[in-house]
Amino acid sequence: MEFFDTHAHLADDRFSPDRDEVLRRAREAGVTRITEIADGPAEWELALKLCRQAPGGLAFSCALGLHPYHAADFSAEVLAALKAHARLPEVVAVGEIGLDYAKGSAPREVQFPVFEALLDAARALEKPAVIHCREAFPDTLAALRNLYPSRPKTRRFWGVVHCFTGDAEQAAEIAGLGFALGVDGPVTYPKNEGLRTALKAAGPSVLVLETDSPFLPPQSSRGQRNEPRAIPEIAAKLAETLGLPLEDLARAAMDNALALFSQRPGI
Ligand SMILES: [Zn+2]
Ligand SMILES: [Zn+2]
Repeated sequence: MEFFDTHAHLADDRFSPDRDEVLRRAREAGVTRITEIADGPAEWELALKLCRQAPGGLAFSCALGLHPYHAADFSAEVLAALKAHARLPEVVAVGEIGLDYAKGSAPREVQFPVFEALLDAARALEKPAVIHCREAFPDTLAALRNLYPSRPKTRRFWGVVHCFTGDAEQAAEIAGLGFALGVDGPVTYPKNEGLRTALKAAGPSVLVLETDSPFLPPQSSRGQRNEPRAIPEIAAKLAETLGLPLEDLARAAMDNALALFSQRPGI
């Protein structure tokens, strides 16, 4: 069985002491592909370096973006640099970008226009968008509807709403627009029955696996640094939730992830 961790932040300092070990454990757990997500210009080169060095024999790709936490850093220069970098073959997506209205974030008036500009860039570059949405579902949906008024015709997904934690109705709205849903550690938390109900309703054809390492550890390692080897635990819980054998879920999630990050038409 092979797994694709579609969302990890392995350039994070927390992996500096033992990154090679982390990747070795990932490989042992069956993770063969990772998309490294770079949250801002300061991380873009590190993400590209990971892709080029492919440590641990893993197939790396990357997404370059500007996380909503850094929305105030947006400028015409950042946008131009993103467009230039996004043309590199290692860069399979624009992200993460999005909206985060949790306490302590930049105000909506700052975040929303930045998100729209970045989403517009992703569309113009014909790259999938990796979207972060926290306590901002109505605005996220409004932006997606505005920029992507119809479902994709030459590929399966316009992008992914990563770390999906909403309800069945929200899952259906996102999938209906042509976006995949990213499933990570929270699906394993006992209290998240509502999330599991939503994912079951969405079904295996729109779900991809991710860890968001070093964040969002699954139930067995809560409170600790997360790493890509957690993917099988997340996959097992998702398979149980959907009532599928683990092998079938793993295959579906791999197919979806390859389709999500591929620029080849017709899949
Ligand atoms: Zn995020
Ligand atoms: Zn992330």
